[in-house]
Amino acid sequence: MQGAVDAEFRRQDSQIELIASENIVSKAVMQAQGTVLTNKYAEGYPGRRYYGGCEHVDEAEALAISRAKELFNCEFVNVQPHSGAQANGAVMLALLQPGDTVLGMSLDAGGHLTHGARPALSGKWFNAVQYGVSRDTQRIDYDAVETLAVECQPKLIIAGGSAIPREIDFARFRAIADKVGALLMVDMAHIAGLVATGAHPSPLPHAHVVTTTTHKTLRGPRGGMILCNDLDLGKKINSAVFPGLQGGPLMHVIAAKAVAFGEALQPGFKTYIDQVRENARTLAAVMVERGCDVVTGGTDTHLMLVDLRPKGLKGNQVEEALERAGITCNKNGIPFDPEKPMVTSGIRLGTPAGTTRGFGVAEFSQIGHLINDVLDGLVASPDGNAAVEARVLAEVEALCARFPLYR
Ligand code: PLP
Repeated sequence: MQGAVDAEFRRQDSQIELIASENIVSKAVMQAQGTVLTNKYAEGYPGRRYYGGCEHVDEAEALAISRAKELFNCEFVNVQPHSGAQANGAVMLALLQPGDTVLGMSLDAGGHLTHGARPALSGKWFNAVQYGVSRDTQRIDYDAVETLAVECQPKLIIAGGSAIPREIDFARFRAIADKVGALLMVDMAHIAGLVATGAHPSPLPHAHVVTTTTHKTLRGPRGGMILCNDLDLGKKINSAVFPGLQGGPLMHVIAAKAVAFGEALQPGFKTYIDQVRENARTLAAVMVERGCDVVTGGTDTHLMLVDLRPKGLKGNQVEEALERAGITCNKNGIPFDPEKPMVTSGIRLGTPAGTTRGFGVAEFSQIGHLINDVLDGLVASPDGNAAVEARVLAEVEALCARFPLYR
């Protein structure tokens, strides 16, 4: 077992991580997670548990809640969801009945499985209607969302997703929800770090309820969270998380969430997020300069979707070639992608993890050129250009050695 952990550390240390949903937590977050709190059963909530001996884990959970409230300026937080999917499931359990209509963004346009995709619980147990983006602008077409909402009369509208490079207009979503008498849930999993520092407008003044993961741009432990401003709704959310969906909360993870929220409240976190965005803009510009298309022409956030069609390449082929060259990313469908989900015409690139290890604009510009060297190598030899990939791998390892992890 230790062998696998050590090998994974070496992989993370020596490769460039561009998966937009990943990050590198601090030692303090990892240490909180590796504590005796993992031993404790604590079904219930602080001060109202079904088990004895909860006074210390109560303190940890209360701290996580109060820091999250301060970070996102809201009245209610539940820090117990084990993951983002659990947080979304709990909101649906709290607000919907099976068969109700839910309007969410489709997976291929940038949404998430839990927003009504066919293979997911949200797509099976609810009447899931999906909106996408405009063919012309590749951005959310709010008029089309409104038309669809009027037609399908959803009980819940979901905004947010996993591959949205541009700012989302939460006020407009709320106006649409109000027009049709729907509730609005915003899943800010990807942009939570940006929302925390004001780099993306907050959904909290607009949404009835907000969900998030804690491990993406927010740079905490793997987990979920639910936030809102309505305490009555908060009671329903609490009952939906426990006993509705989950059993005992992961108290060691909740302690690590408290540590991460404490870090995100420091001024240094704003500097970090500003750098994440600047790095993303830099990387997107190099991708365009070297002949790729970037969906919507750029990015306002930490991620971009690269359309590989101008180079005649596919997402799966590029993901594998980049991995051989020490750069990790994921193939990703682009809006109206003609390719199957396991092939795709695009890759998704994100800057949160690289920025955490210290890469700035100069390094992300270099990374953009290294990526394109691999792509151009593939154009010349579709099965992979070993010479180019070996040269890029050596440059990647040298770059990573200058910015080591956890030392
Ligand atoms: N919501 C969004 C927008 C996501 O991008 C993700 C994960 O990628 C999730 C929810 C699910 O989070 P988890 O993997 O923690 O269940």
